[in-house]
Amino acid sequence: MALIVQKFGGTSVGSVERIQAVAEKVKAFCNKGNQVVVVVSAMSGETNRLVSLATEIDDQASAREMDVLLTTGEQVTIALLSMALEKTGIPARSYTGGQVRVLTDDVHGKARIREIDHEKIKADLDSGRVVVVAGFQGVNEKGDITTLGRGGSDTSAVALAAVLKADECQIFTDVDGVYTTDPRVEEKARRMSRITFEEMLEMASLGSKVLQIRSVEFAGKYNVPLRVLSSFKDGPGTLISVEEGDEMERPVISGVAFTRDEAKVIVRGVPDIPGAAYKILGPIGEANIEVDMIVQNIGEDKTTDFTFTVHRNEFSKAQNILRDIAKELGAKEVIGDTDIAKVSLVGVGMRSHAGIASQMFGALAADGINIQMIGTSEIKISVVIDEKYLELAVRSLHAAFELDKPPTK
Ligand code: ASP
Ligand code: MG
Repeated sequence: MALIVQKFGGTSVGSVERIQAVAEKVKAFCNKGNQVVVVVSAMSGETNRLVSLATEIDDQASAREMDVLLTTGEQVTIALLSMALEKTGIPARSYTGGQVRVLTDDVHGKARIREIDHEKIKADLDSGRVVVVAGFQGVNEKGDITTLGRGGSDTSAVALAAVLKADECQIFTDVDGVYTTDPRVEEKARRMSRITFEEMLEMASLGSKVLQIRSVEFAGKYNVPLRVLSSFKDGPGTLISVEEGDEMERPVISGVAFTRDEAKVIVRGVPDIPGAAYKILGPIGEANIEVDMIVQNIGEDKTTDFTFTVHRNEFSKAQNILRDIAKELGAKEVIGDTDIAKVSLVGVGMRSHAGIASQMFGALAADGINIQMIGTSEIKISVVIDEKYLELAVRSLHAAFELDKPPTK
């Protein structure tokens, strides 16, 4: 007998018929002798609908009241799903976050879970019930309702799986797993059967369409095996777990992630003196602007071009901050480019394989793609290129590393 936490997202519970289909799925699982805790989101579109109702009254409505409002969406689905389960003959009981004391901090709209009282859930499971818990919500020390941030039901499910020491946390959604790259860019993209927590975090740009990335961090921290599956189509999905040595079919490269969300800022002609990098990035950090890649190199004239990337939304802000600073520093000018894209090759196998970077650069060169910046971590190599070559770059790397073929060991 296994204990499984199953989470169903908004589209999976988007109508009464779909809720009934979820009940059938859960029932089949229970009938195999498993204990099941179900976490659900609000019906698709419901949270947005509630947000717009509030905005009609006040677009600066208090975060406390927003949380009271938004959590009603999940309260509807837990009740309907429990009714549907009971109707099929499966004893079930629904609970709001507060009822199972998903205790969080005080940050309304972005709360973090501190602990969960799992006694009640355990008792229900032991008496043969399915427990249906509202995702996305908790309660603070004062008893006020809190929410975990948009998409937070994934994190609720992982947190419950962690405290219950569940065998697996299954996230049912509208795609059937995590792919080697975005299938809209490369139709040969393949569903991965396994991937490590670390890789999934490095592939956030692909993964975040499937799961709230915070839930992956949480799952990694508490070592909860996480499986992404389709609600609409049977299949094994993608298992996200720790690296398991030899057992794991381990390709060197797992996937190609990319983002168009970044922009490049260049401070040209910076004097090569101690403290210059700090003078440039200090104020950027103080303005809460996140910096991703950084490159600097000394030219013959003993000055450097200091280049870094930021989120595109913060590009103008970063440039404005730097205009005066560049003058003070005696730098030549601040220029920038928003027509860039970042493409990353991700794989834990990189740790034990040499020559991945050169193979990557070779594949890009063969397609005439110029590399503007390079950044690396232990399991990732990223390049910044001209945005117009993004799709070509993704396809050329996908082919060069044979990601369309299932890994063989
Ligand atoms: N209903 C919430 C949202 O739409 C939480 C979730 O679906 O995970 O963000
Ligand atoms: Mg979601």
